[in-house]
Amino acid sequence: MLNSILQCADLDISFGNHQVLNNLQMDLYPGEILSILGPSGCGKTTLLRIIAGLETPSRGTIYLKNQKIFGRSTNLEASKRNIGMIFQDYALFPHLSVEKNILFGISHLNHKIQVENLERVQKLTRLGGLLKRYPHELSGGQQQRVAIARTLATSPNILLMDEPFSNLDASLRLAVRMEIEGILRESNTATIFVTHDREEAFSIADRVAVMTSGSIKQIGRPDQIYFWPNSKETALMSGSCNFVDGIISGDHVKTSIGILPLRITKEYSDNEKVQVAIRHTDLSMEPTPSGENTVIKKDFRGDETIFWVETAEKELIQCKHKIHTTLFPGLKVNLSPVQYTKFNVFSVEDK
Ligand code: ATP
Repeated sequence: MLNSILQCADLDISFGNHQVLNNLQMDLYPGEILSILGPSGCGKTTLLRIIAGLETPSRGTIYLKNQKIFGRSTNLEASKRNIGMIFQDYALFPHLSVEKNILFGISHLNHKIQVENLERVQKLTRLGGLLKRYPHELSGGQQQRVAIARTLATSPNILLMDEPFSNLDASLRLAVRMEIEGILRESNTATIFVTHDREEAFSIADRVAVMTSGSIKQIGRPDQIYFWPNSKETALMSGSCNFVDGIISGDHVKTSIGILPLRITKEYSDNEKVQVAIRHTDLSMEPTPSGENTVIKKDFRGDETIFWVETAEKELIQCKHKIHTTLFPGLKVNLSPVQYTKFNVFSVEDK
């Protein structure tokens, strides 16, 4: 097991009466990309600012490359942490050319090293033809690459990116995201990447940390977070999800739509009441006049259509399907698990 490059433990911070981080634990490994996925206001930016040394927690410790940079009686100033930070608006200097933006953070180094670093990062970010341009002469994606080049020129210990793609329109986002991921992988820079977009978090990261209300609720590979969420909250953050009542029966759970196979069986006992998580893609719908469930709403979205289906027990379930022509409100349907699908259950106390 690799040693982590960054360890945050027991971090608390409040603004006035509002506790924003609450006993937060997190680590980052060399070369990895870690996404922090959380809703607006849960404290993601505050955490990045604390790691960078721009905000001071009231409690906790932070180690960077095995050196304590924050803790009781330690608070290494931001400029000495050598942490790169990239913001939503890239924060380029508008009056400086691309080349001068990149050199800005290394202007104290000798000329030869500056030239070597410029050469290294302009190759990595493919900015060679744009070095004499000014930020207003660049596209959003190009500005993003300049921001990264400028930060990587300083050879940071780690890189922090706060919603870096939020200013790009949807058509550019995917291409820029793939390009930036390539640059990060090639430079092998350990990166924390903050987003509230789950697709973005999953696609770019080695691990995802799900954050709500000021603490990390689960951290793991994207597929672990999606298939083995440890709470209803994480299940909802990691994908669209319905919750229905169920009763455990061996390695299955009885629900109003039938008996469903469990993903993990050992934590619950027979006849225990639980909440069953059903992803929108977990069930298939078959029109049947004798079906016990009724389609009550249809929401056509192009690539997919969402159907609201009412069960015999009056529970509402949303199902996602590609086919939309043969299914419509009023239709009676049977619902059954898509082949090989297993279901997660949560305690009824889990809100
Ligand atoms: P978003 O996704 O919308 O950017 P976030 O998860 O990054 O949100 P933060 O910016 O960290 O959230 O803010 C968390 C909470 O802390 C918010 O309620 C915010 O208003 C509050 N907050 C952040 N900085 C300060 C500050 N300097 N003074 C007072 N309150 C603050």
